[in-house]
Amino acid sequence: IIEFKNVKKRFGDTTIFSDFNFTVEENEIVSIIGPSGSGKSTLLRILMTLEGIDGGYINVAGESLWHMHWQGQYVPANSKHLHKMRNHLGMVFQHFNLFPHMSVKRNITEAPMRVKGVSREDAEKSAEKLLNLVGLADKANSYPNDLSGGQKQRVGIARALAMKPSILLLDEITSALDPELVDEVLDVIRNLVKEDSFTMLLVTHEMYFAREISDRVCFFDKGAIVEEGKPEEIFISPKHDRTKAFLNAYL
Ligand code: ATP
Ligand code: MG
Repeated sequence: IIEFKNVKKRFGDTTIFSDFNFTVEENEIVSIIGPSGSGKSTLLRILMTLEGIDGGYINVAGESLWHMHWQGQYVPANSKHLHKMRNHLGMVFQHFNLFPHMSVKRNITEAPMRVKGVSREDAEKSAEKLLNLVGLADKANSYPNDLSGGQKQRVGIARALAMKPSILLLDEITSALDPELVDEVLDVIRNLVKEDSFTMLLVTHEMYFAREISDRVCFFDKGAIVEEGKPEEIFISPKHDRTKAFLNAYL
C-alpha cells in the first residue's frame, strides 16, 4: 500500500536519502527504529507531503504521490489529488501539534468538516466516539493546555483517526512524555490494532512496544534500511553489527 522507489531527498548539501526503496503491505504494522538524524521523521513527513523529494517515485494506495514538474522539480501531483492522498494517511506527531486555541472536540472535528465536508453533527458524533475510545469522553470541551502530555497525545490519536485514514503514521508519539504516561498512550494503539486491521508505520524508541506490536521491524541508519525482519529476528538475533550496537545501547 506504500511504495518508495529510488527516492532521493536532500536538505541543502546534506543527502538524507540517496536511493531509498521501501514497501509496506496493506494491514502490515511496520516499526522503524534507528539513531537520531537517520531520516525517520523525514520519511513520514514525505509521505504526508509535508516534505518534497528530489528524485524517485512514491506510490500510496495505488496513486503516485509526487509528479515531476516541467522544470525538473517534484511537486504534489495536484491539489485535488493531494487531498485524496491525505485522506489515506493519518499522522500523530511527537509534539502533539494540537491547535491550542481550539477545544479538544474542535481539534478532532475541524479536519473532517473542513477537508472532507462532513456535517458538524456527524463530525461531533464521531468525535464523541473517538474520545470514548481514547478514554477522554469528559475532556471534549477542555483546551489542549489544560491536558497532561498523555492526554494531549490521546487527542492527537483521536484527531488522526477522525479522518478515517487507511494508513496511520506514528512518529515517536511517546518520546515527549513522562515515563508514567507512556503506557496510557501505547494502550490506545494496542487496543486499536486488537479491534481492527490497520496499516501502520511507526517510528519508535520503545523497543518493547515495537517488538510486541510489529509484523516487521526495520533498522534504519543514514537514510537506508540496514536490516529488517520479524521482531524476533531483529531483537533476538540481529545480523548486522550496526543493529547490534544500536540495540545494545538500549539494554
Ligand atoms: P530523531 O530520532 O532525532 O527524530 P530522525 O531519524 O527522525 O531523528 P530526521 O528528523 O528525519 O531524523 O532528520 C534527518 C536529517 O535531516 C537530520 O540531520 C536533520 O538535521 C535534517 N533535517 C531534517 N529536517 C530538515 C529541514 N527542514 N531542513 C534541513 N535539515 C533537516
Ligand atoms: Mg524524528
